[in-house]
Amino acid sequence: MQYKAILRKGKEASIQRKHPWVFSGAIKKTIDENGLRVTPNEGAWIGVYDHELNFLGAGFYALGSIAIRVITFDQETINDEFWSNRIKEAYELREKLGLINPDNNIYRLIHGEGDGFPGLIIDIYKGNAVIQAHTYGVHLVRHQIANALQLVLDKQLKSVYYKSKETLPKSFDIEDEFLIGNTPTPVEAIEYGSKYNIDWVNGQKTGFFIDQRENRSLIGTYSKNKKVLNTFCYSGGFSIAALKNGASFVHSVDSSAKAIELTNQNIQLNQLEDKHASFAMDTFKFFEQKADEDYDVIILDPPAFAKHQNVKHKAVQGYKRLNATALKFIKPGGILFTFSCSQVIDRKLFYNTIMAAAIQAKREVRVLHHLSQPADHPVNIFHPEGEYLKGLVLYIGN
Ligand code: SAH
Repeated sequence: MQYKAILRKGKEASIQRKHPWVFSGAIKKTIDENGLRVTPNEGAWIGVYDHELNFLGAGFYALGSIAIRVITFDQETINDEFWSNRIKEAYELREKLGLINPDNNIYRLIHGEGDGFPGLIIDIYKGNAVIQAHTYGVHLVRHQIANALQLVLDKQLKSVYYKSKETLPKSFDIEDEFLIGNTPTPVEAIEYGSKYNIDWVNGQKTGFFIDQRENRSLIGTYSKNKKVLNTFCYSGGFSIAALKNGASFVHSVDSSAKAIELTNQNIQLNQLEDKHASFAMDTFKFFEQKADEDYDVIILDPPAFAKHQNVKHKAVQGYKRLNATALKFIKPGGILFTFSCSQVIDRKLFYNTIMAAAIQAKREVRVLHHLSQPADHPVNIFHPEGEYLKGLVLYIGN
């Protein structure tokens, strides 16, 4: 191993507990193979040692406050077999979860820290893998990861697309490209029996919001003969789940015209266009100008309002205003599905924010469900930062 990071005395506790991040402040020095002090290159593989030089783990180095993301806590050889074992373990978990079957070929195969792989996301759409790197270290091993996917998925694998231009700093000058195969997009894939056109090349993120699968499924329970409003709809997942379960009518809203086009395509693909109308506009404008006042069910799934701690307060105000507004448009006896995917807004803060919105809207509100991210987006228990998606299903009385 070329580089070593020696931690300050007392700074080994969190890594011994298998938290995969080493902050720059915990590092006493970084040295090369000759024991000379050096600053490793961005993305370099580096071993982590306590102040007595006991091995703690190894991973990728980055210049920044999170200096090392640990990929292994064991002293092992990092070769093709290492990467394919990691991917195989994750694949077997998805099999156990029942996510790979004729009715479902959309799933997240690797969810960063939750799958022991900080900095890496891999989503699968009908045998097409989309890799997203969140660190330069992962970028450097993208071909090894693609080869490991080939080994594990074997004949199931149709292509591997590398999409990290928007997740890595611009200065790295990353190109999005196919690493294996060249499947033209969109691809028709299936989630719990519903069809979706997925375009990972031109779509948002890796092409689809897989993290709402179980919550979309739950909306079905509340949709029969109901009038539903799905705001921030992206490719229409909640709208399709509601209509397939007998919703009387669905309005879908998204400020992106491209997203509305995807929603309309997916509605057609599932032959649901008779009971659907879509609006390419800002959600707040929709509430001001177009919304009816008798929705039975409303879904609020906005993008992360806060990506950093310093904008947390503003984000809380945003969630409060959005929820207080939506509450006015729900019929007595109706249901609100409300979400936050901001990692810096924790479950308790989200709950209190929705309570503040309910007070402002002067509605009677009962909590029916606490929602979260699905099991193919697991959270490493030692890395609670991995929990990001929070939702509440609320019964709205008078
Ligand atoms: N619920 C979706 C995912 C939502 S992602 C699903 O299940 O697939 C958030 C979406 O909000 C994006 O599609 C984005 O285009 C849209 N968006 C962002 N700001 C918005 C705004 N002010 N009004 C309406 N839509 C907005």
